[in-house]
Amino acid sequence: MRLIVQKFGGTSVATEDGRKRVLQIIKDAKSKYDGVIVIVSAMGRYGAPYATDTLLSLIEHNIKQLEPIEADLLLSTGETISSVVLSYELKKSNIESLALTGSLAGIVTNNKHTNAEVLHIERDYINNLLEKGIIPVIAGFQGRTRDYKVTTLGRGGSDTSAALIAEAFDAELVEIYTDVDGIMTADPKLCDDAKVLDRISYQEVFQIADSGAKVIHKGAVEVARRAGIPLVIKNTFTDHTGTSIMEYLNYKTDTTIEDKIITSIAHRLNRIQFSISGSLDDDKFFKRLAEEDVSIDIINIFPNYRVFTTSTDREVEATLVLKEFNIDYQLIKNCAKVTVVGEKMTGIPGVMSKIVHGLKSEDIEILQTTDSLATIACLIHDKDLEKAVQVLHKTFEMM
Ligand code: ADP
Ligand code: MG
Repeated sequence: MRLIVQKFGGTSVATEDGRKRVLQIIKDAKSKYDGVIVIVSAMGRYGAPYATDTLLSLIEHNIKQLEPIEADLLLSTGETISSVVLSYELKKSNIESLALTGSLAGIVTNNKHTNAEVLHIERDYINNLLEKGIIPVIAGFQGRTRDYKVTTLGRGGSDTSAALIAEAFDAELVEIYTDVDGIMTADPKLCDDAKVLDRISYQEVFQIADSGAKVIHKGAVEVARRAGIPLVIKNTFTDHTGTSIMEYLNYKTDTTIEDKIITSIAHRLNRIQFSISGSLDDDKFFKRLAEEDVSIDIINIFPNYRVFTTSTDREVEATLVLKEFNIDYQLIKNCAKVTVVGEKMTGIPGVMSKIVHGLKSEDIEILQTTDSLATIACLIHDKDLEKAVQVLHKTFEMM
């Protein structure tokens, strides 16, 4: 059976007009494949009545006020509503479909509520539907524990649902439909010059996602790569061919791949930076931070000085640990991290110098840096973010 998995993001299913386009896209897929499995996100973004962030506002955006099981019951509501509404509209246009929660779709997770990991997928229910030619419309972002408690998969989790379902059912292709034409050289909301990439490797898009670009969730990229299933990012609202994500053949000889050192510029907001002077038992200190669920984004350790960056929403926990150790620290709030990503930068000299030059030309202060084989990231004040993305985009001639 030739199968395709299509995932529709929040903006794609937010309005009736959007859903009309979605219906057409599903119809087209149905005519080309033996089976179609649809995954949906909650409708719209913050402010829209059933968007996940609106649901969170009902409890003052503080999920910790609920029991973990309750938190997931609330969080999962948005996708459940979407799946029923889309299935209803499919039926109205004479396409047989059935809305399913993650649980009914057989998505079994561990019990890490609000950030659960999928353990396996039970296929019987969906197989049954596919054999009858019925399109399953699955609520993304959700699953269930072995003892049938509802769980959710964390931000961007619907992308991961789509890739996991594709893997479980051996689909030929996963299409992720959103509100931009594909993976772009930067977030188009910050950079007018950003342009769509025709194709990109799993590795590079993983780095882009991991560096904060929310256009695709890194978990989805990981799963698609491991399953060897191509991922395509497309715009629900245009006919653009989108971005294909696949294994690079060989970027040195494959002439269809652009010869750019830097593929994309990603950013992540809501960063804070702590600097600590004096001696410290690093082993104990970082262990305590981990126990408090403070995940470290960038870190540099020197004999009498440490500096680390974490997420704004971990400020309370990080401060608590610092007080426990009774050490002096400095805190810089309102930071953002901007990351240049490119598989081809490895071994090429001068990338860092270009970044420093570009940022300096706009008087942007660099607070911290880190790098890996395919990325260089700078922590900056968030007020400088837009300027930073734009100047780096120009510096690396990405338009
Ligand atoms: P959906 O609800 O469809 O999942 P998301 O909001 O999660 O949509 O992701 C799409 C958004 O990702 C775009 O509107 C865009 O602002 C943002 N984005 C960030 N970085 C990039 C990038 N490199 N390419 C394309 N879009 C990006
Ligand atoms: Mg998304």
